[in-house]
Amino acid sequence: MCYGLFTVKSAYYLALSNVASDSASSSVSSGEVWKKLWNLPVLPKLKHFIWKCCSDALAVRSLLVKRNIVSNGKCPLCNSADETVIHALFHCNFAADVWLASSFRLCTQSLAGSSFKDMFMNFLKLAPSFPDKVDAIIQWVTLVWQIWKVRNQFIFQHANLSLYDTIQSFYRGVQEGRLGISGEKSKPLDPPVPLNIVLPATNTCRYKIYTNGVWNSVSCLGGRGVMVRNYKGKFVVAKCKHGCSDSAMAMEAEAIRDALLLARSIKLDCISIFSDCKTLIAHLINAHSSLDWASVMVVSDIRELVGEFSSVVFMYIPKMLNKEAHVLARGASLLSISSVWWVNPPSFVVNPSLLKRRDFAACFE
Ligand SMILES: [Zn+2]
Repeated sequence: MCYGLFTVKSAYYLALSNVASDSASSSVSSGEVWKKLWNLPVLPKLKHFIWKCCSDALAVRSLLVKRNIVSNGKCPLCNSADETVIHALFHCNFAADVWLASSFRLCTQSLAGSSFKDMFMNFLKLAPSFPDKVDAIIQWVTLVWQIWKVRNQFIFQHANLSLYDTIQSFYRGVQEGRLGISGEKSKPLDPPVPLNIVLPATNTCRYKIYTNGVWNSVSCLGGRGVMVRNYKGKFVVAKCKHGCSDSAMAMEAEAIRDALLLARSIKLDCISIFSDCKTLIAHLINAHSSLDWASVMVVSDIRELVGEFSSVVFMYIPKMLNKEAHVLARGASLLSISSVWWVNPPSFVVNPSLLKRRDFAACFE
């Protein structure tokens, strides 16, 4: 069984941007929508949810303002736009990251649908272009439902807003949906399909890979961040990973190992790897400075991996010039997420204040 990873260049991504700008979609009659909706191959609870979204009955702030239930219509998550159905499920920073990290790999900024009903109908029109139409519908519907659920758990129950957990729950939900539809016992859950994006051959160019690790000496937990830019500074890919380590230096070394593994998986070569850990870089360059025990093993992995590239250069970079990798590592640590971004850097790298806990707290005031 395959989750059908729909790449960024998939039919959905391209066609949806086109369909969304086609105003004809807004002329879809309600009757047609309901007919399609009741015939959907998804669980009843999901049909009900989609029905609420389509008929503007979802309890978003903009609706509650209209009904004089609340006075502030702003999105409690980002506080930067009114909380409409479209905003909550597609355009809010968190929702956008979930779509990007999902099997759809969809950049929702390119979507221009003016209502949920439009977006839903546009998707149904395109569903036959997916390898498995029924499965694509189950995934789409499960994803919007999952985003709504996680938003509310965060807003009302102060639950952790985790991109990683959301995606995991999404895959579980898809599995449940398939079980519900087929009525049979299904195979065990497949892990998400790993990305296999091969970038055009650019071996003469140099990629700059910024790495950072953050580590808590009490819990031993933390995060690693890797930001890849090309020699012109253009964004290529960002990755973060949540995890534990035995020392701060080991966490920094693991970030470098992540960078090499990522570069190898997408066939980047002629790379420069930056870290603000002076001792570690000095060691990688000349092996003279001493390492703590926890870092030694990771460094041995790094040396082995380096042999697979035609050119890897390690460079020290001051902390203040390594902010993106630091924010990625911090995001991984604070949000307990592990993820990869291919189209744009994640919302919290663009706007690091999203990671400030007092900002999250302010959402509840
Ligand atoms: Zn928002």
